[in-house]
Amino acid sequence: MTMTYDAFKAQGLSIDMTRGKPAAEQLDLSQALIDDVGRAGFLSRDGIDCRNYGHVLGLPEARELGAQLLGLPATQVVAAGNSSLELMHDALAFAMLHGTVQSGPWGRAGEVAFLCPVPGYDRHFAICEALGIRMIAVPMNDDGPDMERVESLVAADPAIKGIWCTPLYSNPTGAIYSRETVRRLAGMPAAAPDFRLLWDDAYRFHHLTDERYTTPDIVAACAEAGHHDRALVFASTSKVTFGSAGLALFASSPRNVDWWQRCVSVRTIGPDKLNQLRHVHYLRDRAGLERLMDRHRAILQPKFEVLDASLHALLGDVSDVSWTKPKGGYFVSLFTPDGMAKRTVELAAQAGVVLTPAGAAFPYRVDPRDRHLRIAPSCPNTVQIEQAAMAIALSLRRALDEGARQAR
Ligand code: PMP
Repeated sequence: MTMTYDAFKAQGLSIDMTRGKPAAEQLDLSQALIDDVGRAGFLSRDGIDCRNYGHVLGLPEARELGAQLLGLPATQVVAAGNSSLELMHDALAFAMLHGTVQSGPWGRAGEVAFLCPVPGYDRHFAICEALGIRMIAVPMNDDGPDMERVESLVAADPAIKGIWCTPLYSNPTGAIYSRETVRRLAGMPAAAPDFRLLWDDAYRFHHLTDERYTTPDIVAACAEAGHHDRALVFASTSKVTFGSAGLALFASSPRNVDWWQRCVSVRTIGPDKLNQLRHVHYLRDRAGLERLMDRHRAILQPKFEVLDASLHALLGDVSDVSWTKPKGGYFVSLFTPDGMAKRTVELAAQAGVVLTPAGAAFPYRVDPRDRHLRIAPSCPNTVQIEQAAMAIALSLRRALDEGARQAR
């Protein structure tokens, strides 16, 4: 490499690669949501005044849109506020405090544990930590979690109440759950009768290739296996329209939707139906959303390509270094040799490139092999991505040199 670490650092750059945020150019795609506010108005299709309280499960046409997007009956889909993460938090908080359709409050029944495929999404793990749910790491493969481990743990321990799943283009490895994985998750015997799949379909429409991958309908798969209430499905338009001002969806069995209504009615008198109405006007249907996602892809795909090509050019010759080439989603996972991730992130930060903290993708922020980096290329431009790849490569090489010197 021609550039040295010190020369890179001397440029005084400042690049943020920490979170998978949409770029401003992507947010611009949905400017009509703001510009056409007047046209959407405040009256729903059925004459509901969206300026007023009520409709705690969401506006009927927003639930119907959600049903099209998730492939489920509208009666099993709830259109909620702006964040699916908040719905996941609530689902677990409700279970801890009030119990589920099969059980009393988890929080009063002794220890509660959750399986966490790793590397995984740090905010899932933060919810568990905040609610006092013990996290058990299980390895994540390219086709989903290591099912042999999952099945044996879940069958043996009634304290294990659930597992986090991001079935498509998983954060941060891009894993796509296979049909077999989904079938096994739906059908596996669980020692806890109220075992739950926290099914976070955050990247359901976020393709980066011509192939629009899909995963099987988990609610139907669970029902077929006799586990009618096992799956709690979450999704949102945060990375379709606006991050933090999109439309969040919850879907599950009819009994779980009743449970949700009971619990959520204590928390709110109704969601922001004006935003729901605007989203229905703007997106219209699944085809409308898919057209919009093609435009997102046109912005995102070149960024992922540049990142991959830069990493090849800069790190292709370093042994024990690999990275993912996701077919969708927002992240690339880079694996360093053992013991090098933390130091690489530290050196990159000193050189002006801030990455997600090493260890973030693991329960309690501890990557036992200290080798995983999460790279989020959506927000920076392609020049910045090349620079970030350079910073990562130079930092990793310096970390390896330091390690070799210490070993001598
Ligand atoms: N789930 C996953 C897997 C994510 O990566 C993200 C965003 N980074 C979210 C949920 C957050 O979704 P929302 O904006 O709907 O809360």
